[in-house]
Amino acid sequence: MPGQQLGKLVADVSQATEGRPTPESHQPKGRSAQGASIIAGFTCIRCGASLPATVEIDSKGCPACHETAPANLRPVYVRPADPGSIAANAPRSLWRYAHALPCAVEDSVSLGEGQTPLIEATRLGKMLGFANLAIKDESRNPTWSHKDRFSTVAVSVARAQGARVVATASSGNAGASLAAYAACAGLQCVVTTFAGSAGAMLAQIRKYGATVLPLVNKMDRWTMLAEAASRYGWFVTSPYRAPVVGSHALGIEGYKTIAYEIVEQSGGVAPDWCALPVCYGDALSGLWAGFQELFAQRAITRLPKMVAAEVHGSLAQALVTGSDRVDELNMAFESLAVSIGAPRSTYQALKALRESSGRAVPVHNDGLVAMQERLARSEGIFAELASVTPLLAVAKLREEGVIASEERVVAVATASGLKDLDRSVAHPAENTIFRSTDEAWEWLGRKDARLMMQLA
Ligand SMILES: [Zn+2]
Repeated sequence: MPGQQLGKLVADVSQATEGRPTPESHQPKGRSAQGASIIAGFTCIRCGASLPATVEIDSKGCPACHETAPANLRPVYVRPADPGSIAANAPRSLWRYAHALPCAVEDSVSLGEGQTPLIEATRLGKMLGFANLAIKDESRNPTWSHKDRFSTVAVSVARAQGARVVATASSGNAGASLAAYAACAGLQCVVTTFAGSAGAMLAQIRKYGATVLPLVNKMDRWTMLAEAASRYGWFVTSPYRAPVVGSHALGIEGYKTIAYEIVEQSGGVAPDWCALPVCYGDALSGLWAGFQELFAQRAITRLPKMVAAEVHGSLAQALVTGSDRVDELNMAFESLAVSIGAPRSTYQALKALRESSGRAVPVHNDGLVAMQERLARSEGIFAELASVTPLLAVAKLREEGVIASEERVVAVATASGLKDLDRSVAHPAENTIFRSTDEAWEWLGRKDARLMMQLA
């Protein structure tokens, strides 16, 4: 970006943080308390250390664990979530579960996210050997991905704390989602990407009016955000330090509502297995926390086992070695499931798998597009390539006999298939063009005798 333009951006955005940025004014107004009267503080998910509600969420996670095994924080609520507190007039969104979230419903920035359908996938289940398979279709969210559950909470908290700029490093679903919620909240949004990022999602980010900063060096995306957070007090939602501990701890709370909804939609019962695509494990960690809360409230009598569909296998390896440190693996191939393509996952994901006696299943590109089409053709659900990785993972576990045929399996399809058409469609569809209906009927008779017999 030319220097002049960049200067203008910094000036614009600095202005948006109200006044000259001085060390004292980095924290936007009201930011001293993370969630006002709702959050009592934070705790480390690994060592259990207690931190005050005023602690700076700086992408390092727990200060004590940072050097040995970096671990994310979790909020501690002043009052434990009470499922009995769902009001009759609760919003028709995930804010129905505001009692379990770090922001009051009155302060929420909502586009009607959540309350996505849980669809019985009978035909696909039969093909894969399951009597009881259901798909939680997260493509029904406002920006067509599950990231909206994170963004609605993160942006609500950011606005309540007085932040004027939200930022993320993402050229995918997270960026598009944050941009939409920032627009809804009237906040500025900055998205750092790497040069060469392309596709529908980047276009979507721009349409919502976010400022996109492409950087030649991938690591500069994070450096830029670290500088912006410390110099200007931008509210950064994504990870911006290595090793990654996960995204903003308060945003992750939004993912708990997937568990709340699955249980409510299943008549108060948790599935035997719950599978989802996993990169840094924000959704996995949040989903598991949701199930644990419901168990603690006695809303469910047993917990599901979690399945992480991953790409390069860092979680599968850590489960075997028993280490709390998740090692970075070599990227042996470039995954088509770009939403989850990172070579190293996080402790928060590992912890959810360990505690639930779950599994991590590395998923290769083979069979990815075929599974996407199988799901679309058998159930009418068109999901992103990363979103069908849990189906390949549970199919493998079924083949291995780990999951029994009669067990209840819920696979979370995280985003819409319209998001990555550039990767899932090898060649633009070539259709024969007909000059008359006779020609079209004649072609159908040759091409699809089965269809013709049904029409007859
Ligand atoms: Zn710790």
